[in-house]
Amino acid sequence: MRIAMIGTGYVGLVSGACFADFGHKVCCVDKDSAKIDGLNAGLMPIWEPGLEGLVKSNVDHGRLTFTTDVTEAVKAAEAVFIAVGTPARRGDGHADLTFVFEAVRELAKVMRPGTVVVTKSTVPVGTGDRIEQILREEGVTQVSVASNPEFLREGAAIADFKHPDRIVVGAGDEHTREVLKEIYRPLFLNRAPILFTDRRTAELTKYAANAFLAVKISFINEIADLCEAVDADVQDVARGIGLDNRIGAKFLHAGPGYGGSCFPKDTLALLQTADAAGVDQRIVRTTVKVNDDRKAQMVERVERAIGGGLKGKRIGVLGLAFKPNTDDMREAPSIPLIRGLIERGAKVAAYDPVAHHEADQVLEGVEFSADAYAAANGADALVIVTEWDEFRALDLDKLAESMRGKVLVDLRNVYDRDEAERAGLAYQGVGRGRLPTSA
Ligand code: NAD
Repeated sequence: MRIAMIGTGYVGLVSGACFADFGHKVCCVDKDSAKIDGLNAGLMPIWEPGLEGLVKSNVDHGRLTFTTDVTEAVKAAEAVFIAVGTPARRGDGHADLTFVFEAVRELAKVMRPGTVVVTKSTVPVGTGDRIEQILREEGVTQVSVASNPEFLREGAAIADFKHPDRIVVGAGDEHTREVLKEIYRPLFLNRAPILFTDRRTAELTKYAANAFLAVKISFINEIADLCEAVDADVQDVARGIGLDNRIGAKFLHAGPGYGGSCFPKDTLALLQTADAAGVDQRIVRTTVKVNDDRKAQMVERVERAIGGGLKGKRIGVLGLAFKPNTDDMREAPSIPLIRGLIERGAKVAAYDPVAHHEADQVLEGVEFSADAYAAANGADALVIVTEWDEFRALDLDKLAESMRGKVLVDLRNVYDRDEAERAGLAYQGVGRGRLPTSA
């Protein structure tokens, strides 16, 4: 099958490379010429485990190409996937569909009749209908538009794409369903569940999935607050409820609040859809508020841990990306935390295994350290914000020795209080019993 992928970001590049690996001929388009030049020179625009090798091998086999020219990609394609960004619109949180509609207008001019247009971008209910309308306005006679939302997670994107929990396809006619079935054939043969439904249901399924996961995170974060008030341990509560199959253990890790390119914007977009439909979604609305408040509260948590007064203090921060195994800084909890620390007069030395470049675009006044020990050197407190594996087995004695204040604020509950205290560190996790009034 010949596939065009419009948008070569996290989703477009990973999906394009995986489709090529399934044996399809894929041409990835992006309007960012620096990105395409880089990819044509073998340079990955994002940091994602396994991606470079996968791209290289498929390029070498002639199955994967990159271009800025939509015509080149689309003219021979039997299916065109749209994987452009759908960021939250400033002010109201509505999904901004400018990139999607722009892409549709461009591809309409050059696509063959009968080519299936598939939205992989996360788009609100009804977007497929508007795409159909645009295609007709642009003179396309044979219109097939499907919704195929993507559920991959950054940091595990290739494994998620190749071994998905499910594939969701929203399509109104048999031809479109057959094309999608053919594209996903290797997964189909591997018995990955494929849910065929109508387009609007597929569009909504993606938002419902992300909103539910956001609810789960905010729920356990509030339980963590309760644990701190009543002297209980959220790790054990999470395990105790997560072992119940009806609940499941995933997304029950208390922390500094969720970030990333999906949950914050998708929950807001779901609320916009609900408002437009005149249906209140109180649980999701509250989840958004709980999460926003939580991210903002992390500065006070650090301030309280050092006994108040951040002015002139040096704070080491471990982890900047919104989660491990990615350099994605979008909506990362580290951003409001670090900005807040700096606003209150602290100096921040931060270390992330891969996200310094991305972090430098959004954070001012941060000193980037060469490793975790350098970030801790001379610090009044060390704060773990992102649970990279390399932060899980730090030499706590060595850290403590080089720190000025001996405070470890562990926003991801990577360490136990006992081991931190053995190294001479005052420890503060999240939801791990009563918080000390000051360290
Ligand atoms: P991204 O910002 O990393 O990539 C989007 C790319 O599209 C950019 O490179 C941009 O230059 C390009 N683009 C925009 N308009 C274009 C056009 N007209 N022609 C060609 N290229 C164009 O975005 P992303 O993280 O890959 O997300 C894409 C979509 O997938 C979003 O709707 C997102 O919500 C959804 N999604 C993302 C993830 C994730 O983990 N990142 C997971 C599932 C779904």
